[in-house]
Amino acid sequence: MLKSLGTTTNEHLDCFYCCKNQELERIMIEVKKLNVSTLYLNKDQSHKGRCILAYDKHATEIFQLDDQELQFFMKDVSNAAQTLHEVFQPDKINYAIYGDLVSHLHVHLVPKYAGSLEWGEAFVNSPLNKKLLDQASYQEILEIIQKNLHH
Ligand SMILES: [Zn+2]
Repeated sequence: MLKSLGTTTNEHLDCFYCCKNQELERIMIEVKKLNVSTLYLNKDQSHKGRCILAYDKHATEIFQLDDQELQFFMKDVSNAAQTLHEVFQPDKINYAIYGDLVSHLHVHLVPKYAGSLEWGEAFVNSPLNKKLLDQASYQEILEIIQKNLHH
């Protein structure tokens, strides 16, 4: 259990990453809890394997984490990215931390494929035309990521 910092708390009632409410379920599906974060599959699979890694506590800036928290979080980022690399074999993984509208610390992990959508450019975070899959296809992706996650 990590110590609580003044700038981070366990729950913010207006934050869907803290509340894990229907808004969160509309956008993503939980894949697995990692050491200090939770990995979600983004329902938009315009980039195959697109995920979100959310820090377990309500921090809004990475400088609010102490050195150990930062080390643990980046290790989770690295482990998740390595798994996505192995499972989906993208040509590059993009890492993005935005948070203007949803400030809870989370990293978008977006596998990119040479010659395909938005290669060589920043990915669109909330595309108008999302690539949504059926439940069986999501389940298949969830299971293959879960099976291959590093610890
Ligand atoms: Zn939060």
